[in-house]
Amino acid sequence: MATTFIDLIQAPLADAFNRPITYLRVSVTDKCNLRCVYCMPEEGLQWLRREDVLRYEEIVEIVRAAAAVGVRTIRLTGGEPLVRRDLDRLVRSIAAVPGIDDIALSTNALLLEEQIPALVDAGLTRVNISLDTLRPDRFEAISRRPGLDRVLRGIDAAIAAGLGPVKLNCVVMRGQNDDELADFAAMTKERAIYVRFIEVMPVHENLGLQAETYVSSEEILERVATIGSIAPVPGPPGNGPARYFAFDGAPGAVGVISPLSHDYCERCNRVRLTADGRLRLCLFGDQHVDLRTPVRAGATTEDLAAMLRSAMFIKPERHHLKLGEASSQMRAFSEIGG
Ligand code: SAM
Ligand code: SF4
Repeated sequence: MATTFIDLIQAPLADAFNRPITYLRVSVTDKCNLRCVYCMPEEGLQWLRREDVLRYEEIVEIVRAAAAVGVRTIRLTGGEPLVRRDLDRLVRSIAAVPGIDDIALSTNALLLEEQIPALVDAGLTRVNISLDTLRPDRFEAISRRPGLDRVLRGIDAAIAAGLGPVKLNCVVMRGQNDDELADFAAMTKERAIYVRFIEVMPVHENLGLQAETYVSSEEILERVATIGSIAPVPGPPGNGPARYFAFDGAPGAVGVISPLSHDYCERCNRVRLTADGRLRLCLFGDQHVDLRTPVRAGATTEDLAAMLRSAMFIKPERHHLKLGEASSQMRAFSEIGG
């Protein structure tokens, strides 16, 4: 039988290097209620104008097209996604899109405790929580705002709501929190928590900090192994770029995410939608396609799916980041959607 246009757009999305693309990260806002030192300056960024930010209905149109070409997981991120009003309304609409079977959230958890019941009821399936320190004074120094107690309550609320095991994302900085590696790792011996240590990535705002505080994943693992022997494990389901290790008999695991020292590009399965509607093909590159203009001009699901498919040709094979350098086009991490 002849291949029709519909058959073509329904074939699963893959890029020019035959990597299946099944994961879409959606930044719902560029704003945040914290100012983490590695992410954005104290005064914040030049925020997007309200009318430039995609409305929930527009995001859902793009998700529908992505699902039609094989995307199965949506991760809501930001900025801080929980500062956008009624996020559960977006979750509910995405959960109703045929083909989407996993809706995850990346959050700093300041507002999680009060929102988790509505989010889970709407269809949220997983949560990743950022936590760089277990000490209140350091929390305030690193994120330039108080709130550790709220984050810890958010973690407990997520587990109580059935979203465990949660993944904790911890950006490791020498001299700022690297002496807490063992404390974080020890939590995985007691609780079904996946602690993921992330190497600081370079963005224009943090180049000095990144060069001074960078700790490689290999060093992180060596230091974790000082409190017990660890062995590689498969890790939790969920599309992440982390490599996981566990202590013998532990309910949780330690993961490392190493964009610089251990390139994960060959396993890349993802693209990103920025809050202002650009499809970004690589976290570290400027290759992008504007989807806001067509979606506002009434593009159909088929039109958008075809745009997603052609965008695959500009997804680069890998990034070429080096320690102490930022890509020439790169702005703050949060601007590109975490
Ligand atoms: N606000 C949410 C949060 O903090 O989880 C979601 C957005 S945030 C940009 C997503 C993740 O990116 C967080 O885990 C954060 O720690 C991480 N991140 C931000 N800037 C980073 C950097 N320069 N290097 C490494 N990780 C970074
Ligand atoms: Fe906000 Fe997340 Fe960036 Fe911290 S890492 S400033 S919580 S967007």
